[in-house]
Amino acid sequence: MRKNHKEDKMTFQFLGTSAGEQYPGFWCTCEYCAQARRRGGKNIRKNSCAIIYPNILIDFPAEIFIQAERWGVSMLDIEYLLITHPHEDHWQPWPLFWRQPVPVRKGRSVKETMAELGGPRFTPLKTLHIIGNRRVMEMVRELFAKINLPVKAADIELHEVVPFKACRLGKLEVMPLKANHMKKAAEPALNYIIKTNGRTILYALDTGWFLPETYERIRQYQYDMVVIEGTFGNGVDSEEHFNFPKLEKARQLFGKDRLLKPGAKFCTSHICPHAAPAHDRIAPVLRRKEIVLAHDGMKVLL
Ligand SMILES: [Zn+2]
Ligand SMILES: [Zn+2]
Ligand SMILES: [Zn+2]
Repeated sequence: MRKNHKEDKMTFQFLGTSAGEQYPGFWCTCEYCAQARRRGGKNIRKNSCAIIYPNILIDFPAEIFIQAERWGVSMLDIEYLLITHPHEDHWQPWPLFWRQPVPVRKGRSVKETMAELGGPRFTPLKTLHIIGNRRVMEMVRELFAKINLPVKAADIELHEVVPFKACRLGKLEVMPLKANHMKKAAEPALNYIIKTNGRTILYALDTGWFLPETYERIRQYQYDMVVIEGTFGNGVDSEEHFNFPKLEKARQLFGKDRLLKPGAKFCTSHICPHAAPAHDRIAPVLRRKEIVLAHDGMKVLL
């Protein structure tokens, strides 16, 4: 499945790049939504999520399995799942329900058990380490509590994280950042500084303009790749989201503070259709400002 992946290089791939309503918006026929439907290709976006090959997935929207299939990702390889926040376009835990195993009966083979019992899974799985805030953890526990099964039985390990406290798992180091997003919730949304294989990546969807303590942490690193939301495009300047003017400001700030390693890409994703023109039209405009507009399936070699 990882035929395009070279061992010496690390590959980051955007599986989806839209905001919640998708792009075109499922229920909208405005100018840009209509334009995207007509043009197709890179102009069609599904909910934001990404993979760092071979085994790190970031966010888990409803159509994750279709997105994985579309881009040739084996979900069986995924060992680390980073969840930014429990908004519905980023986190839908229910597909994890089907990881529950059917225990092979004593003295029976797997095949015999399959003939005698129904169930969603009959073979061993790698452990899936889920990293997220307290609410994300609760949602997984609630899911398995419905069938009285401990989360561990589904080969899942939960790692609750809080802003600014690093979490290390194997070769992966994650620094959770406090996003300026979901401010009314008990737990803020998280952005992540991800360190693996000698590379450092900032993944900031959804974020809002950086809180002072968050930017203070961001500027302590140098990045091989940066991903920041461009949600509202040329539209509304919302407190909880970026638009393109804010994104340009961030690009300039990262340049001024020398946060990008030579050749590093400054990318944007999580695009809302109604205020951001179709990819074909707006990607070249952003490119001139040294911002790479991601599209579904786009790979970045690191
Ligand atoms: Zn979102
Ligand atoms: Zn629209
Ligand atoms: Zn959100």
